[in-house]
Amino acid sequence: MLNDIDRILITREQIAQRVQALAQEIAGTYPDPNRGLTLVTILSGSIIFLADLIRYLPIRMKIGLVAVSSYQGATTVGSEPKLLDQLHINVAGEHVLIIDDILDTGRTLRLVQQQMWSLGPASVRTCVLLHKSGKAVCDVKADFVGFEIEDAFVVGYGLDFDDHYRNFPHIGVLKPELYERQGSG
Ligand code: 5GP
Ligand code: MG
Repeated sequence: MLNDIDRILITREQIAQRVQALAQEIAGTYPDPNRGLTLVTILSGSIIFLADLIRYLPIRMKIGLVAVSSYQGATTVGSEPKLLDQLHINVAGEHVLIIDDILDTGRTLRLVQQQMWSLGPASVRTCVLLHKSGKAVCDVKADFVGFEIEDAFVVGYGLDFDDHYRNFPHIGVLKPELYERQGSG
């Protein structure tokens, strides 16, 4: 696995520190710990981020999972993302915080945001671990951002290429020859 990584962008120690600080920011935004928050997590890249983040959030919460069509073996998106699996919990009147691994063009977050607003929540905010600056094609901003990163394809800490490398503990850039050979787009 390590042989496939070109360079490490963010170490596991840096991630751990930032996730803790991010949780404090989030907790400060929802000052009543008993009001309740629903974390709507976009599968599968956000699972490790979610698992770490929630253990620093001492507030009453529910977790919902949604699936959005992904790159499927390619490192660029050709078409609009689609919702593959809907939320199975009720968020009407609730505060919703959408959790995603990375904000790139913004299409994924826009889709999930629209979907959440249609369910009548009290509020919808967004939190991403990573933000690729300058790539946005739609006007979507995350309320909470872990790290700004360069425009490179990254894996690790939950993020995959072709469903691999999610268990790599740091965030790293894959060797370009790997996805140039395998990727379809
Ligand atoms: P967007 O819809 O904002 O263009 O893309 C967001 C989604 O694309 C993320 O949820 C993530 O699944 C995927 N994505 C975007 N950039 C990367 C990347 O560098 N590495 C990986 N593994 N996934 C990415
Ligand atoms: Mg994703």
